[in-house]
Amino acid sequence: MSSVLKASPAVTVRQIMSSPHVTRALRFFETNADAITEEHVGICSVPASPFGEQARAEYLSRKFLELGLTEVEIDEEGNCLGLIKGSSQAPLLVVSAHLDTVFSKETDFTVVRRDNKLFAPGIADDGSGLAALITLAQAIQTEQIPIEGSILFVGTVGEEGEGNLRGVRHLFGKGRWASQIDAFLSFDGPGLDRITNRALGSRRYRVDVTGPGGHSWGDFGLPNPVHAIGRAVSRLAAYPAPKEPRTTFNVGRIEGGTSINSIPSRASIEVDLRSAAERELQRLDAFFRRAMREAVDEENATRRAGDPLLNLKVDLIGERPTGETRADSPLVELALEATRMLRFVPRLDQSSTDSNLPISLGIPAITLGAGGTSGCSHSLDEWYDPRNRDMGLKRGLLVVLGIVGLVLAADEPG
Ligand SMILES: [Zn+2]
Repeated sequence: MSSVLKASPAVTVRQIMSSPHVTRALRFFETNADAITEEHVGICSVPASPFGEQARAEYLSRKFLELGLTEVEIDEEGNCLGLIKGSSQAPLLVVSAHLDTVFSKETDFTVVRRDNKLFAPGIADDGSGLAALITLAQAIQTEQIPIEGSILFVGTVGEEGEGNLRGVRHLFGKGRWASQIDAFLSFDGPGLDRITNRALGSRRYRVDVTGPGGHSWGDFGLPNPVHAIGRAVSRLAAYPAPKEPRTTFNVGRIEGGTSINSIPSRASIEVDLRSAAERELQRLDAFFRRAMREAVDEENATRRAGDPLLNLKVDLIGERPTGETRADSPLVELALEATRMLRFVPRLDQSSTDSNLPISLGIPAITLGAGGTSGCSHSLDEWYDPRNRDMGLKRGLLVVLGIVGLVLAADEPG
C-alpha cells in the first residue's frame, strides 16, 4: 500500500488528533448525535432487499451530492460511489458499508423508536455502517479536513447471502477505480472494539431433489424428494464439526411439496458451510457432497422395481475466500492504536464481510464496528442503540485519516 503512514501508528494518531480541523470533527460527532440518528433513520426507512438495493443506492447518491462529493455515480452493478479528493489522488482509500439487508422486498422497513432504541430490519446491519459513511463524509466536508490522499465512499450491493459479495467483486473487478484502490475499510454493524482483519471463508449451496411425484396412497413406493431431503439434513446434522478451528454448517432454508396427500416432485434446501481454516472447509465440503449423494441413493433404494429415480442437483451459489490482513500491517496497527487512544481494548476478529474480497487480492482491508450496540441481527426484531456511536465514528475517522494522511499547515504541529 502506498500509505502516507510516515511515522509509527501512535505518532500518526496523535498528530491527527492535534489538528484543529480534526478536533472540531471529533466534537461534531458528539454535538450532532441526534441529527446523525435522523440520517440513520432516513436511510434505513428506504427498503433494500437482496438484488433490490436501487432505491437505497439512489438515496445515498443524493446524500453524497448534497455533501459535495464528486464523481458521484451508481455503477453497473448497483454500488453507489462518491469521492472526496485530497491534495493528491493516492493513496486511494475505499470507505464502505453495504446497502443490502437479508430481508425480502415484502418486508416493512419502517423504523420504530422505543426507549433509546431504534427497531427495524437492517437497522444495525448495515444501517449503522451506512450512517457512519454519511457522517464521516459530512464531518470531513463540514470541518474542511485537509486530506492528502483521496477517499472513495461506497455503498455496496450484495454483501449478504446470495449477493455473494457481487458489489465488491465488481468494485475490484470491472469497476473503473479497481486498479487504483490502495486500501479498503468497511463499516459493518455496531461496536467499538472489533477489528475484523481475517476473512472467514464460506461455501453456500442450493440442493434440489426432483422426481416423478404422485398420489400419497395410490403411488406409495415412489421415491419421495422430501424424504430424501430429510435424510440429507439428518446426515449433515451429524457432522462432527471441530470447535477449533471454528467450523459451522447451517441448513437455512427448506422448501418443496404441493399438498399433504401428494408425493412431491421437488424439494430443496439452502446450506451454508463455514470454517476459519480452508482445510476444514474443504473437509466439511466433501462430507456435505457425499451426504447429499448418499441420502438420495438411500431414498432411491426404497423405490418399487421399475419406478424412476430421484435426481439430485447441487449448485454452488456462493463462495467467499479466506485470508487475512496481517496484524502487523499498517492498516491494522492504525486501527489498534485508534481503538486504544479512545480507551477501548481492541479485539482482532474473523468474519465474513465485504473485506473478504480485497483481502483475497492482497489489498489491505479491515472491517470495523460503527459504534453503538445492537441485537437480534438478521431478524425482524433487529434493534440499534445509538449511545456511544460517537466513539465508533471517532475511531473510524482516525483510521481513515491515518491512511490518507493530513496536509499539515505551517502553524500546526507536524
Ligand atoms: Zn453486514
